[in-house]
Amino acid sequence: MRVEGKELNSECQVENVHLKESDLKRDFNQHWSEQGFRVVPQISVIPPANWDGTLFVNSAFVRYFDHYQRGGSISEGWVTNQYCVKVGFSKISLEEMIVRDGFLTSFEQISIGIDYSEKNLHKIIEGICSLLWGKLAIRRDKVYIGIPDSRKNEVSMWENAGVDPHNIIVSDKVGYAIDLQKLKVKGEYTNIIFDRGPDNSLACSQDNCQPGCHCERFLELGDLGILEINGRKVVDHAFGLERIQAMQNGLEKVADLPWFKAGISLGTDQGLGVMESMNVADHLRTILLLASQGVEPGHKKQGYILKLLLRRVLWNWPSNSTEQFDDSARKYLEIFADHFPEFSSGQNNFIKFLKNEKASLDKLVIKAQRLIIKMLNTKRLLDPDDLKFLYETHGIPLEVSLRIRQDLCPLVVD
Ligand SMILES: [Zn+2]
Repeated sequence: MRVEGKELNSECQVENVHLKESDLKRDFNQHWSEQGFRVVPQISVIPPANWDGTLFVNSAFVRYFDHYQRGGSISEGWVTNQYCVKVGFSKISLEEMIVRDGFLTSFEQISIGIDYSEKNLHKIIEGICSLLWGKLAIRRDKVYIGIPDSRKNEVSMWENAGVDPHNIIVSDKVGYAIDLQKLKVKGEYTNIIFDRGPDNSLACSQDNCQPGCHCERFLELGDLGILEINGRKVVDHAFGLERIQAMQNGLEKVADLPWFKAGISLGTDQGLGVMESMNVADHLRTILLLASQGVEPGHKKQGYILKLLLRRVLWNWPSNSTEQFDDSARKYLEIFADHFPEFSSGQNNFIKFLKNEKASLDKLVIKAQRLIIKMLNTKRLLDPDDLKFLYETHGIPLEVSLRIRQDLCPLVVD
């Protein structure tokens, strides 16, 4: 594979067209409607009951899955925009997500689904490409296609649709497989990848940098899956809206999207580090989305995810006094209200959840401090049994114990 490093770089300026989320969704939906697809509304961010109960992951695919499980088919093709929540998944933990650009705990997918046939696959590949270099004005030489070994026959389809043959990579390292036995879902995905260029701040300087590299020069914009659900085949294609939006607008990073940047600045202005500020801005947006969809903090499934995010925000929270706390929460809300009016119904609960969680966390921390100081009177380190005791007897989570231990004596490693 050839990467035209220097040449690409010289013409790397993407025209700054400032496409908004709503413009992108409109263009995507319109493009596929013109191809005969029907626009269907998104479903709740809480997955349907027949999806794996242990996951709180929704995606446009889950919508197709639900439909096929009920015995339906999608002969005319569906186009949909779907909010999704992910707090870590099989390939990347929540901690890793936060340090990598483009892995948000909530995001929107712009997606299509249709019954599989060779003809439909052709049509979709043609459609993806004409949308990318047409309405979306993504430069052709920046698009790479990563195809899994089993789908080599697709190479010519992408070539015919206008992808540079040098930018087509066949390897299981850049495409990927899923096999959810319990749900009787399996299949493989081809990845649609964007080259941010060798001079991007996230790129490594190695000559052999290519899609699949450990650095973040190459960003997956979306994918194209051929999946079997209960023995029936469906074509599932989606782009991550935020990633497309960032790259389409010529931004260096997804974290440079206006709402994200404003949220990060709000944190750093109050003395937080950049990482903490990213955590807070990302998680608060997801908390608002969940609140707007009626999720309440709890100990199971989506309620637990909401609680986890609230806790993580509060660990990083820039202010301690109640007034400062209220003031900050409202400033974040103002940012989100500008960009995501569809989340407005969650505003009251957003503030309420944060306040309640702060009150309960404050109490827990005082209790934990007392217990840990007592333990450290007799020894220097906390061992796994101590941590287990703190959790099982007093309900103090591991991360709380470790944080307090760290605060009490930062140089001692347990
Ligand atoms: Zn690299």
